[in-house]
Amino acid sequence: MIHQGIVEAIGNTPLIRLRRASELTGCTILGKAEFMNPGQSVKDRAALFIIRDAERKGLLRKGGVIVEGTAGNTGIGLALVGNALGYRTVIVIPETQAQEKKDMLRLCGAELIEVPAVPFANPNNYVKVSGRLAERLAASEPNGAIWANQFDNVANRQGHIETTGPEIWAQTEGRVDGFICAVGTGGTFAGVGMALKERNPSVVIGLADPMGAALYSYYTTGELKAEGSSITEGIGQGRITRNLEGFAPDIAFRIPDEEALPVIFDLLEHEGLCLGGSSGINVAGAIRLARHLGPGHTIVTVLCDYGNRYQSKLFNPAFLRSRNLPVPAWLERRSTIDP
Ligand code: PMP
Repeated sequence: MIHQGIVEAIGNTPLIRLRRASELTGCTILGKAEFMNPGQSVKDRAALFIIRDAERKGLLRKGGVIVEGTAGNTGIGLALVGNALGYRTVIVIPETQAQEKKDMLRLCGAELIEVPAVPFANPNNYVKVSGRLAERLAASEPNGAIWANQFDNVANRQGHIETTGPEIWAQTEGRVDGFICAVGTGGTFAGVGMALKERNPSVVIGLADPMGAALYSYYTTGELKAEGSSITEGIGQGRITRNLEGFAPDIAFRIPDEEALPVIFDLLEHEGLCLGGSSGINVAGAIRLARHLGPGHTIVTVLCDYGNRYQSKLFNPAFLRSRNLPVPAWLERRSTIDP
């Protein structure tokens, strides 16, 4: 089969059995390998659906500009798909995000604007800055500009309703008992959740919330309340985005980094899976859901992005130590072989 361009190479990612997580729980725990998308993350799907939606609505013309506020992955997806389809990208990113993602965005030709990381309520929050910038550029750019607005643009969730969810259903031949993931925009969580519930209402949908996010508290007590913090990037929501509206998990877990990071390190050391931090929250969440449901169930989660994107943080002993986080022995191993 020949793809006519990278757009056709987005999606249809493999479902990989996670051996240790499965053995530990007596369940079949499967990871949807979203890091195998052309932009190395789950956000390629959202980027493509947002662009196609804007094209269909006549909002985006060739040579037009796509503006977005992003932790990085959506920006990389937009930049790559934009390059392939003839659009420019302007990306607003909080300066705290991993250097590797910023480098990749520049490499993709995106115009990168770094802003201080401030809460959503602050008018200088990266999402709000990107919205205002899009409005300004829409008036001044000869071919117009759009705001991708991934948090509240439900074309994002639609991408998962139409692709990720049905793929998981087909790959498991409908034998999926549970699905769990973390929320950034909520596109993956609500989109896959809706697609699976539509096919079988008894599939248990779980939320894996990192520390510093407010959704665990919201879905268990009704109050949006955050506690603690996490070094994971791209997840950890403090509000009900439009992508989350009308959908709620059956069960929610709060996963500290101390639980998620050893999972990430183990997956690399023993299973050859090099993943970013949000995948650790997801797989740790899948283990919790497996324990909740009991042995014999099939649980799917999302392997969101590739680990090399976080070499300077997640896989950097000095960084981990500075946050009092565990450092795996192999990360510091030096060769003792004399060549
Ligand atoms: N993991 C990573 C690394 C991400 O960048 C994102 C997107 N921000 C997510 C998970 C969450 O995906 P979603 O936006 O669909 O909730």
